[in-house]
Amino acid sequence: MAIATPVSAELRTIREKVLAGERLDLDDGITLLECDDLLSLGELADSARRLRGGNEEVYFVNNLYLNHTTICRVKCKFCAFARTAKQADAEMWEIDDLVAHALRVREHQEFSEIHMVGGENPHLDFSYYVDITAALRKAMPDVHLKLFTASEIHHMTKLSGLTHEDVLKELIKAGLDTLPGGGAEVFAPRVRKIVAPGKEPGETWLQTHRTAHALGLRTHCTMLYNHVETYEERIEHLLALRDLQDDTSGFMAFIPLPFHPENTVFERRGWKFTTGMDDLKMVAVSRLMLDNVEHVKAYWIMISTPLAQVALHFGANDIQGTVVEEKIAHAAGAVTPTEEKVGDLVHVIREAGKVPVQRDTFYNVIRRFDP
Ligand code: SF4
Repeated sequence: MAIATPVSAELRTIREKVLAGERLDLDDGITLLECDDLLSLGELADSARRLRGGNEEVYFVNNLYLNHTTICRVKCKFCAFARTAKQADAEMWEIDDLVAHALRVREHQEFSEIHMVGGENPHLDFSYYVDITAALRKAMPDVHLKLFTASEIHHMTKLSGLTHEDVLKELIKAGLDTLPGGGAEVFAPRVRKIVAPGKEPGETWLQTHRTAHALGLRTHCTMLYNHVETYEERIEHLLALRDLQDDTSGFMAFIPLPFHPENTVFERRGWKFTTGMDDLKMVAVSRLMLDNVEHVKAYWIMISTPLAQVALHFGANDIQGTVVEEKIAHAAGAVTPTEEKVGDLVHVIREAGKVPVQRDTFYNVIRRFDP
């Protein structure tokens, strides 16, 4: 005898809206985050994904992560990555060395995308960014270059005196293909003042992506959650992204990023890692609120592969990538063969009951792994 899962009263009205294709509002979003009926929430997000054309396919990309520098002037309080130039373990790659490193990795890993971000190094000229883009493009004409967060683009306007539009135009001319979604954090000024007081306002992040979209770049969007933000501020962030997407259709995917307090001031203050409950809620609520963003990623690097598998039933349809990443400070180190990395992800997706699809950055199918 089948037993129907009861749907909690607070979800019932929202469920009706979702099934009728109606847009959810701020109050709906807060209600969803406050709701502890996790299975109903997941089922609703999965229904929304299916209603918008989703099927059993789950995407992944074979990509290489690079960090050209860890030196950063901004000092965000949640950041364990940034270094000052004087710290012994600060990293700053010469262009030729970085390109040579990427080419070495490519001998073993057929990545289709380079995802490169770095600190806001005040000791660099804008020409470094243009030249490193051009050098990667020349060395790997067939690889998609997903480089520099909107915060880094803003930093480049300071270095160069150019507008955001002109910085982007120079980078596009050099070979830039798309922007990653980092740097968005949480847009609320109250939150930014506490966790990233040295960072530009959230409006600048949005405006930079708006400008990129107008120039024909498609980009990605994110939110870093689980620090000082309220549920209301989370939903306002999603609504700001949704509004921009209504105008431009320029976002390809949303990636909810949980904040990890390790090695940050928040760890010393007793901050905790996100729980699986919160991570799954964020995936589901992102899918439900962002009704105009086609892809939601379960970022396995931060939420773990077991939880990412569950997230594929909570509205996510992408598991991010192979993230080929030997520690770039040890550039000559061994790398894992591509097939092993891809095979791992294929296994994870299949075991979740889904069909793995290797994609390029624009979600064109490279290889479908039929059962
Ligand atoms: S701008 Fe980026 S690299 Fe710099 S401190 Fe903030 S999060 Fe870290």
